[in-house]
Amino acid sequence: MALIVQKYGGTSVADPERMRNVARHVAETRKAGHHLVVVVSAMGKATDNLLQLAHQVSQNPPSREMDMLLTTGERISMSLLCMALHDVGIDAVSFTGSQVGIITDTVHGKAKILEVKGDRVRAAIGEGKVAVVAGFQGISTAKEITTLGRGGSDTTAVALAAALQADSCEIYTDVTGVFTADPRVVPQARKIGVLQFDEMLEMAGAGSKVLALRSVEFARNHDVPIHVRSSFTWEEGTWVVGRHHERMKNMEEPVISGVVQDASEAKITVHSVPDRPGVSAALFEALANANINVDMIVQNTSTAGTTDISFTVPKADVATAEPIVANLAKEIAAGGVNHDNDIAKISLVGAGMKTSPGIAAKMFRVLADNDVNIEMISTSTIRVSVVVRSANMQKAVQALHTAFNLDSGTDYSAPLPERK
Ligand code: ADP
Ligand code: ASP
Ligand code: MG
Repeated sequence: MALIVQKYGGTSVADPERMRNVARHVAETRKAGHHLVVVVSAMGKATDNLLQLAHQVSQNPPSREMDMLLTTGERISMSLLCMALHDVGIDAVSFTGSQVGIITDTVHGKAKILEVKGDRVRAAIGEGKVAVVAGFQGISTAKEITTLGRGGSDTTAVALAAALQADSCEIYTDVTGVFTADPRVVPQARKIGVLQFDEMLEMAGAGSKVLALRSVEFARNHDVPIHVRSSFTWEEGTWVVGRHHERMKNMEEPVISGVVQDASEAKITVHSVPDRPGVSAALFEALANANINVDMIVQNTSTAGTTDISFTVPKADVATAEPIVANLAKEIAAGGVNHDNDIAKISLVGAGMKTSPGIAAKMFRVLADNDVNIEMISTSTIRVSVVVRSANMQKAVQALHTAFNLDSGTDYSAPLPERK
C-alpha cells in the first residue's frame, strides 16, 4: 500500500464534469488500496478572473487582501471535489493550506514554504480518509494568509509529498507529460520519458510552466519522484527523478532535452549609468529588497564614462520595479529608465551540453539563418538562453527544435483541452 499525492491543475477541474472525472480517478486509486492526498488548483481561469476583479476595484490592490482573495479559488475546488468524492462513496475531507500547517515567509504573492506540519492530513489518512488540500497557499509566520506564486499548487503538492514521505507525487495536467517543447507551440514536440531533477529545474527556471520552479526545487532537495501526466488520457507520462534513480539506469544524457520559451518577462533599461564601482550593487540591492527576481543582465561597454544596463524581470513586477530604478537613477545621476514588454526568452536545456561544445554557436547560427536578432544572452552549464523580439518567439522555438533533431515526425496527438 503506497501513499500517493495527486495534484490536479486548473484545466483538470475546470467544470463539474471534469471534477467528477477526477473524483472517479481518485476513487479508483483509493479502492486499489492506496492512501491519498489530493491537491487542487482553482477551477479553470478562476485565479485570472479574481485578479481582474481586484484590478477593477483598485489601481494597486494591497498584497495582503490580494492573497485573501486569490486563495478562495482553491477553496472552491477543494470543497467541490470532496462533495463529488462523497458521491462516489469516498470519505474525503478538505483543508486549506493554513489548516494543514503550510508555514511560509511573509512575502505576499510569492511566499516561500518554510515548514509543512501536516498533522491534520496525517490524522485524516489514519482514519482512512482522502485528504483534499487547497493548493497555492499557506499561512505566514505573521499568521497571515499567503500565496506561493502563480502555478504554486505544484509546490504545495511536492512539499506535502516530501513532508509525508509519500511514495510519489503525481501532477495531473492537460498535456500527457513533459515534452521537448511546449506542444501548444511545437506540435512535433516529443514526450520525454524520464528527466533528471537538474534538467527539469533548468527548464522550469527558463520559464516552462508545466512544473513550478519551487516544486522541482523541493523534489530535488527531498528526492521526491514526480510523475507528470494527463487527467484527460490518464496514460503514463514523464518521470522526473534523481540522477541515481533506477529509472535513470542505462539512460543516455541527451545533449538537448528541450527548447523552452518564456514570454512572461520584460526588459528594463537604465541609460547613461556612471561607470564606477558600487552602481550595479546599489541598483540590484534595491530590487532585491523589494523581492523582485532579476533574471538576465547586460551591461554595454562604457563610452564617455557611462554605460547602459538592461535586465529582465517578471512583467508582473515592472510596475514595482520601474519607480525603484527611476529613483536610484536620479540618485546616481544616470539618464532615463524605460521598459520593453515585447521580448521573449528562449532557452536550450540539456545535461549532455556539459560535454558537447558548440551548442551555443549552433543556436546563434540557427537564429541568424532565421533572421532572428539576439538582444541578450546568458548561460549555465546545462542551459543557453537568449532574449529576442516576442514576435519572433514561435519561429525561433520551432527552428531550434528542428535544428537540434527534436522533432518527433508526428503532431501532438492527444486532444489539447480548451482552457476555460
Ligand atoms: P496546470 O493548470 O495543470 O497546472 P499549466 O498550464 O500550469 O497546467 O501547465 C501545463 C501547460 O504547460 C501545458 O498545457 C503546456 O502548454 C505548457 N508547457 C510549457 N512547456 C511545456 C513542456 N515542455 N511540456 C509540456 N507542457 C508544457
Ligand atoms: N491557481 C493558481 C494559479 O493559477 C495556482 C495553480 O494553479 O497552481 O496560478
Ligand atoms: Mg501549473
